[in-house]
This record gives sequence, C-alpha cells and structure tokens, in this order.
Amino acid sequence: MGYYKEIEKFKDFDFDAYFNSVTDDMVINSIHRDKRDVYDFLNLLSNTAKKHLERMAVKSKELTEQWFGRTISLYLPIYISNYCSNECVYCGFSKKNKITRKHLKAEEIEKEAIEIAKTGIKHILLLTGEAENLVSLEYLGEAVEILKRHFASVTIEIYPMEVEQYEFLKEKGVDGLTIYQETYDEKTYKEVHLSGKKSDYHFRLNTPERGAIADLRAVNIGPLFGLSDTHKEAFFCGMHVRYLMNNYLNTEFGISLPRINNAEGGFEAKYQLDDVTFVQFMLAYRLFLPKAGINISTREKAVFRDHLLDLGVTKFSAGSKTAVGGYAEKDKSTEQFETSDKRSTEEIVAMVKSKNYQVIYKDWEQIV
Ligand code: SF4
Repeated sequence: MGYYKEIEKFKDFDFDAYFNSVTDDMVINSIHRDKRDVYDFLNLLSNTAKKHLERMAVKSKELTEQWFGRTISLYLPIYISNYCSNECVYCGFSKKNKITRKHLKAEEIEKEAIEIAKTGIKHILLLTGEAENLVSLEYLGEAVEILKRHFASVTIEIYPMEVEQYEFLKEKGVDGLTIYQETYDEKTYKEVHLSGKKSDYHFRLNTPERGAIADLRAVNIGPLFGLSDTHKEAFFCGMHVRYLMNNYLNTEFGISLPRINNAEGGFEAKYQLDDVTFVQFMLAYRLFLPKAGINISTREKAVFRDHLLDLGVTKFSAGSKTAVGGYAEKDKSTEQFETSDKRSTEEIVAMVKSKNYQVIYKDWEQIV
C-alpha cells in the first residue's frame, strides 16, 4: 500500500511558485490535450484557470457525457448510530459534544429502511460514528442484511477497517465504501483529530486501498474542504484517485467535494472554498479523471447543485436526513450537520428530469 509514497514525492514541491507560473496558454493546452498529466492537473487547479472556466466546462460536459451519458444516480444516507469515541474538532458527533446519542436496534433500522425505500431510491449509504464496541462488526453485518432486503446497493461510510472486515461485510451485501481523508496535510490532520483511533493518519490514508483489495465494487473518497490549503487538498485527492485507478482496475472510483457545514461545537473553517473555486475543482477533476464518478451531496445549496448538473456531476443525494432515525421518526436532535439542500427526493427527481437527465435509481444487482 503506497499512496503516502506519492505524497512524499511532492514534499519539497513549491506549489505556490508553480501555480504563480501558470500562463493562459498552459491552461488552454491542458484543457485540449487528449490525456492529461500531473502538470496539466496543476494548471487546471491554478488561479489562472479561473479565467477559462467556460472552456473547462464545455470539455467537462463532453467527457461526462462520453463516459456516463446524461444520467444522475441517486442515493440516500442512513445514520444508525451517533456514538463516537473520536474527537474530530469539526464534527457534531465528536465525543466531547454533549448531544443526544442514539443507537438504532435492528427493528428501528428496518423501520428507517422501509421509510427510505418509499422514495424509490435503491442505493443506500450506511453511516455510523466510530464506536467500535457498540458499533461492532456483527452489528454492522446485521444492519447490512436488513438494508439488503430493501436496497440493491449498500455502501458504507463507517470507521476504517482491515481487509478481512471489509470482506466480511461484502459477504453480508456491502458493495461500496466511502471514506474521506478529511485532510491530506499530516500536521493539520493531527491538529483536528485530537484523540481516538481516527487520529492515525496513515491507517486512514490506506483505507480506500484496503477496500479495493477486499474487491469492493466502488470506492469513493474526498477531502473535507475547509481544514487546510484548498488547492493542495484538491490536488492530493485527485492524485489519490488516480493512484487507486492505476492500481485497482476492478474497482470504480469516485470523488466527493464536501465543504464544512455548521456542526455542534461551533467549528469554523479556516480555509474557505468559495463557489467559483468549487466549480473549478470539479471541472479539473473531470478533465484529469474522466472516468471517475463525482458525487455532490445535500451539503450544497439547491440552486448551486442545480447549476452543477451540466458540469460533470454523476451522483446526487436526494432528500437526505443526517440524524439517527431521521426518516421514520423525523427527529432532528441527532443531526451530524445541517444539510443545505432541503428538497424532497421527488423535488430533486423533477429538477433532474427537467434538465433532460435520466434519473438512475439502480445500476447494480448482486448475483449470488
Ligand atoms: S467525523 Fe466521524 S469519527 Fe469524527 S467525530 Fe464525527 S462521527 Fe466521529
């Protein structure tokens, strides 16, 4: 396992000097090349590229339609426990926060699943806090079995695991993994993960790779924008996806661009990712990684998500609740963060269709 070795290659690289040296011609050349290398990626992330967003958007749309057609896959998250033994300064579930804690029993998970399934969505993302004693492998296995009765695809966003544990969950029905590095900057990583298992930067960094080794069908990664230098985060995440794609040909890789939202504990992001730069990063990802899925969640505002449709996105969450038991009980007291796009699944489906995109509820079935 070796993405850290790739990061180390850029230890002495002067990002600011490179970004400042990028000219208009370099950006235009990078947009129109058939294959783009690491320097093209840097050119597309530079401030100079902001002047060429329209050209980037045209190319991004072309590549997205070439690899994905005019389709948007929909999914919904289900939170089943918000107990957590980690102290992440940006998260409402952090163990130091005095919030209502909730841990769903099997019958409550089923109730949530039934409520979510009414939307017609067939892809579910299972989330928990990181409390291994309570959220044990067996508990997760049982939850996956329940969800499989209602959904074609069950992916997980839980604590990092060993290959064998992923293999166990795959047996139960899991087919995909979402794991955010949060920040690729090792020093910042230590500063924002104060205690608990999550403070192990390297174990987390190698997690997507362990998921691919376990032969999961799909792995989705991303930084959490706001914790460290945004341009470097975007760069190292894009390079991470490319490293994984080059080494694990049987797995589909996707990328998310989460930005910090309001959470319990009042954390304020030190580095702001504005909307224009967000769009630029998304376009740069599409041009550098034409076959990678791009996932935009309800963290983003409705009107902004609508505008992103034509620019390279392939996956939307639609009608998300981030509280434990948020669908059946409609209880918001355990929300992990506040969503920005509060529209229902039906409203999002209508919007996607109105822009002539096909809504994908299901693109996969496990054959046993
Ligand atoms: S980000 Fe995850 S690990 Fe960290 S406090 Fe929140 S739920 Fe726990």
